[in-house]
Amino acid sequence: RGDRADYDEEVDSVCPFCGVGCQVSLKVKDDRIAYVQGIDGPANEGRLCVKGRFGFDYIHSPERLTVPLIRREDAPPKGLNVDPANPWTHFREATWDEALKAAATGLAGLRDAHGGRSVAGFGSAKCTNEEAYLFQKLIRTGFGHNNVDHCTRLCHASSVAALQENVGSGAVTAGFNEIENADVAIVIGANPTENHPVAATYFKQFAKRGGELIVIDPRGQALKRHASHMLQFRPGTDVALLNAIMHVIVEEGLHDRQYIDGFTDGFEGFRAHIAGFDPERMSEICGIDAETIRTVARVFAGAQRGMIFWGMGVSQHIHGTDNARCLIALALLCGHVGRPGTGLHPLRGQNNVQGASDAGLIPMVMPDYASVMDDEVRALYRDLWGGTEIDPQPGLTVVEIVEAMHARQIRGMYILGENPAMSDPDVEHARDGLAMLDHLVVQDIFLTETAMFADVILPAAAFPEKTGTVTNTNRQVQMGRRAVPAPGQAREDWRIVVDLARQLGLDWSYADPSEIFAEMTRAMPSLDNITWDRLVTEGAVQYPCPSPNSPGESVVFGDGFPRADGRALFAPARVTPPAETPDEDFPMILTTGRQLEHWHTGAMTRRATVLDAMEPGATCSLHPSTLRRLGVVAGDKVRLTTRRGSLEVATRSDRAVSPDMVFLPFAYVEAAANILTNAALDPYGKIPEFKYSAVRVESAGAE
Ligand code: SF4
Repeated sequence: RGDRADYDEEVDSVCPFCGVGCQVSLKVKDDRIAYVQGIDGPANEGRLCVKGRFGFDYIHSPERLTVPLIRREDAPPKGLNVDPANPWTHFREATWDEALKAAATGLAGLRDAHGGRSVAGFGSAKCTNEEAYLFQKLIRTGFGHNNVDHCTRLCHASSVAALQENVGSGAVTAGFNEIENADVAIVIGANPTENHPVAATYFKQFAKRGGELIVIDPRGQALKRHASHMLQFRPGTDVALLNAIMHVIVEEGLHDRQYIDGFTDGFEGFRAHIAGFDPERMSEICGIDAETIRTVARVFAGAQRGMIFWGMGVSQHIHGTDNARCLIALALLCGHVGRPGTGLHPLRGQNNVQGASDAGLIPMVMPDYASVMDDEVRALYRDLWGGTEIDPQPGLTVVEIVEAMHARQIRGMYILGENPAMSDPDVEHARDGLAMLDHLVVQDIFLTETAMFADVILPAAAFPEKTGTVTNTNRQVQMGRRAVPAPGQAREDWRIVVDLARQLGLDWSYADPSEIFAEMTRAMPSLDNITWDRLVTEGAVQYPCPSPNSPGESVVFGDGFPRADGRALFAPARVTPPAETPDEDFPMILTTGRQLEHWHTGAMTRRATVLDAMEPGATCSLHPSTLRRLGVVAGDKVRLTTRRGSLEVATRSDRAVSPDMVFLPFAYVEAAANILTNAALDPYGKIPEFKYSAVRVESAGAE
């Protein structure tokens, strides 16, 4: 690094895309990011994937929002009918003062006329910890309730629910780099090669040095090549498969009795429960033969040190919490928690979904997952926040808020950096809800599909244009640093939230993000011994951090769990079928997800030149035999139809997808996958079943 003459300065920061949290050196020339190099961060050791290396020029897109906008009185009806390059038939330019007043007046008017609960907020996992903290504080103190949520509801809410229930903490018990110390690792319902590419390099190295890599997934994804065991099971049958594996472990006496006696509760009831899941019978449900189930059980339980990694293939089901309960029980059964090379690790999605969740951007908990129903917790925040009483009633979650829009219970929203008009399940229903709002304030860097429904649009700085902390999947709190100025009049999100709070009558005075972080440290034990100055100097500190000089702990719970009795809990899980299953009208299974080149709803990566060139348009993946059966070849269009809607999309041939499945990424507005997905919710995590919808696939005729 530093050996090139083609930049003016270099600024160390963090990649703004996935939860791996790779550290980067941004090379800046003429106030533009000229190029990016990986640096020696704790999660990436110099490595970057294609998004981190080539994905930054979205910030220089001519489509950036540079001035505040207000909806014109003579605008056409709200909908996806705005040209981002020419929005002037729908919006007019406004000064910051005018836009903030309009935003606050509209929201406060609804609060005063219909009560605080008529307004809700979606914050963002792409913003900093300080911004997430301020956003939830604004909703809780400005409107007097807890209707504040963010995209964790759509990715790992069920994992967090199970982890909190069974081990007392929603974060990972070990960083992914701990795989270096493991003998065996299970990767289930995750496709790290595409979604957490730098983490995947550690998994591949682990396999290369002889580690047993067990990949469990309905799609035969890229990590399969490195796996010692690949279990391509039937979608939605996770509980049957995992309970069968645990049945074998207990039946053959491979469980760690000493660990179970010393650190857990509920084993006897759990043992009785899994006795009914013999592998022969479960094999018929999950499609994996009994002998393979037995082999995998022996490999995992027989290893000295084992880890479990999972992604949204586990969490995005109506039985997502049950899936995660099984994984936690499997680790506890084998004593694979709390030592180097052991642990539970849900691979977090967005760059700061861990930090935004920690900061309290969740309707049922305050920062650090302290329940809003706890009197002592509310008293703490009342005192910290100048006497405002906190509502003891948990708020609504993302999908519940959409339903409340339709019921006219929610009439106004403040949406910061989220794009529910693309990311919500049954998205036409969500778009209809957005169109029904009396007042919508959207704060973003682009005129997203959601911003098209807004009454007021506040232009925000992108991640490389501001300073603040983010927390990655490993619990590493890292410092993101401003490298270039924001375009036009765009401002940092924290500054806009503070300005809006003042317009709402709140007495807020933060001079910079370090003051916000200092307030967070007063309320959040997870930040003990982590200071702004340390992060400026050291770049990253992992929580929990036992002393001011410690880099933090990668592995936790070696001496007990943060539950009332200090012991982890075995929670039995029953087999629940998906909310809808294939039938005569909808005979195949639709599953959705991300691709290597594109990030979530595509707002950033589809405006990144290299990434857009690599994957310029939507395609769905079908097995070659399915293409033949449909009478199409790769590149032809098919029509996908579910009970929610229908769309046409080009095909690609992919042997990793089984013949009864279709995979569709959700980054493309022209074939928006969530038109098709099911909004049925997991009852605990309230996460929708993105990973399973019954679908009809038909040829739409060759292009
Ligand atoms: Fe960025 Fe994730 Fe790629 Fe690292 S792995 S460079 S954090 S997108």
